[in-house]
Amino acid sequence: MHLRTLLALLVAALLIAACGQQMPATDNIAEPHARPLNVVVTTQHIADAVQNIAQDRIVLTPLLRPGVDPHTYVPTEGDIRVLQHADLIFYNGLMLEAQMTRILRQIGQGDRTRVVAVADQLDPLTLLNWEPEAGLPYDPHVWNDVRLWIQVVGVIRDTLIDMDPANATTYEANATRYIAQLEELHDYTLEQVARIPQELRVLVTAHDAFNYYGRAYGFQVAAVQGISTESEASAADIQALVEIVVERKAPAIFIETTISPRTIEAVIAAARARGQEVRIGGELFADAMGEPGTPEGTYIGMMRHNIDTIVAALTQ
Ligand code: ZN
Repeated sequence: MHLRTLLALLVAALLIAACGQQMPATDNIAEPHARPLNVVVTTQHIADAVQNIAQDRIVLTPLLRPGVDPHTYVPTEGDIRVLQHADLIFYNGLMLEAQMTRILRQIGQGDRTRVVAVADQLDPLTLLNWEPEAGLPYDPHVWNDVRLWIQVVGVIRDTLIDMDPANATTYEANATRYIAQLEELHDYTLEQVARIPQELRVLVTAHDAFNYYGRAYGFQVAAVQGISTESEASAADIQALVEIVVERKAPAIFIETTISPRTIEAVIAAARARGQEVRIGGELFADAMGEPGTPEGTYIGMMRHNIDTIVAALTQ
C-alpha cells in the first residue's frame, strides 16, 4: 500500500472517530451553554456551596450579606432585577426567606429562570417540625447538620450538571472533593463535642436556629426567640429561658451575628438575679456567615468557629 493511501485512510478513520464523538453532544445532550450560567443565590451558605462546586464556570451573585437576617430581609428593587435576569436561582426554602418566597416562586413559574429551593428537596423524614398549624411545616436551618448540608450540596451539583452538562465532569469532581471536606467537618465537630462534659451540653442562643445542630451533635437547645425572628421576644420567652439556664446550670449562653444581643443580656441579668452566674460564651454564626476573606466567611470555617466557641465556653 502506498504511503499516501495509508495516510488518507488514517485521516478518514480519525474523521469518523471525531464525528462519532460529536454525535451525542449535538443529538442527545442539550447544547452546551454559549456563556457561563448566571446564578443568583440568597444565603451565604448556599453561595459557598455553589462556589466550591462551580468555581469559575459560572457567574455567581449572592444577595444576602454577612450580618443580614434572612427571616426579615425584604428584597430591594435592585435585588428583584438581579433575580429576574438569572438563569438559575438557589434559595434555602422552607420559608427561611419569608419576605422573598413569593417573588422567588413567581420567577420560578416563568420560562426564563430555573428556581430551586434547596432545603425543600430534602426527604421530609429527615426534617424537624416547625409550626405545621401556621403553614410552616419544617425548621429551615438545615445547614446546621453537616450531613443534611451534604445532601443539599448534592442537589446543587445535580442541578448545575443538568443545566450545564458541558461542565459536568468539573462539577462532579469539585462536589466530590467538597463533600469529603464536609465529612471531615462532621467528624471534627463530633470529636470536639466529646470534650464537653455530658451535663454541660446545653446550647442557649438568641433565636432557635440550632435544633438540627442539637439533634446531630447531642445538645439540648433553647433560644429566646423562635425559629423565625419575625416576632419580638416577650418577657415570658425570656423568663422561660432563664428557667432552663438556672435548671441546667449553664455556664455560658451565646449571641448571634444577625441578632441584637439585648435579649441574651436580659437573660443573663435575670439568671444572675436568681444566683446563677452565666456569661456570654461568644458569638455564633447562625443565619449568616462571616465577612468574605475571613475563615468564618466560608461554611466550613464558620462551623469550625461555632464548635470551637461552644467548646471553649462550656469547658472553661
Ligand atoms: Zn433563623
